[in-house]
Amino acid sequence: MPTSLKQMGEFDFIKHLRKNAAVTNDVVLGIGDDAAVIKSSGNDLELLATDMLVANIHFNKKDLPQAIGRKALACNISDIAAMGGWPKAAVVSIGVPAGTAVKFLKAIFDGMNKCAKEYKVALVGGDTVRAKELVINVALTGRVAKRNLISRSGAEVGDQIFVTGPLGGSLKSGRHLSFKPRVIEAQFLCRNYKPHAMIDISDGLVADLQHILDESRVGAVLYEEKIPLNHKATLQGALYDGEDFELICTLSKTKAEQLLKDADKKKYDFACIGEIVAEGKGLHMATRKGNRQKLNVKGYRHF
Ligand code: ADP
Ligand code: MG
Repeated sequence: MPTSLKQMGEFDFIKHLRKNAAVTNDVVLGIGDDAAVIKSSGNDLELLATDMLVANIHFNKKDLPQAIGRKALACNISDIAAMGGWPKAAVVSIGVPAGTAVKFLKAIFDGMNKCAKEYKVALVGGDTVRAKELVINVALTGRVAKRNLISRSGAEVGDQIFVTGPLGGSLKSGRHLSFKPRVIEAQFLCRNYKPHAMIDISDGLVADLQHILDESRVGAVLYEEKIPLNHKATLQGALYDGEDFELICTLSKTKAEQLLKDADKKKYDFACIGEIVAEGKGLHMATRKGNRQKLNVKGYRHF
């Protein structure tokens, strides 16, 4: 029996929580996706996501406070987008070390409110307590039309894998603070191309794609030459850096061809980066040299 989270690993711990979590008839999807899905009246479902940022882990105290506040909300908006939904209302809890300047805290909320206005989110509550490190937790509700809901578990063999933009180097470049959650892109994809599975990249392309593969019981091949890189990013960065907050989705071959042909796609940065294969084949990359290289998950580990 592992005695610490470091020994057990974050994901095995979450597996344990998932197996033992209390549920009701209202839960459509509980633990295990980007956001929880709860029954609602009419044609919509309710979404609920939460994320926590801790000083010196998710941001530095020398980062602009407005950017920290923006990120705390934006990573939740990204999770709502990854379900095919749009965000609605947030509650924000902060743990604050004694002596923290009020000006700094106010600026965090300025950044958050600016992002909230951009994405039509209401900031409706929260909690303020004392803590050893600055901690910010945001919980965000959202809505999704039943027909647009996309989970991590629907990928099918033969699906093409798309990403909504270039990857890698997010931390070094500061994009981990200034990224744009892909709500509009997700809506465009859901309405026109019915993705089978979708996730946002918080832990790295390989690690997050692996969540789709695990939940859908499939494997995948990525095409090295098709993976779009950010300015100054390396292939390793694109595969393993966290916090790109682009979306990965899988589309049937027909829909994928349509998307690649559509003139509309020119407004966006979508790239087809791979294909879903049978589970037994695992996760590989077809390299430029024509080899197959096994890809191992080594995304960001909290413990
Ligand atoms: P994401 O990167 O999309 O935010 P995570 O990898 O953080 O997702 O979490 C995976 C899943 O586990 C999510 O459904 C999340 O809600 C759930 N989860 C993580 N920590 C906890 C916890 N302490 N209690 C309940 N569920 C949790
Ligand atoms: Mg996510």
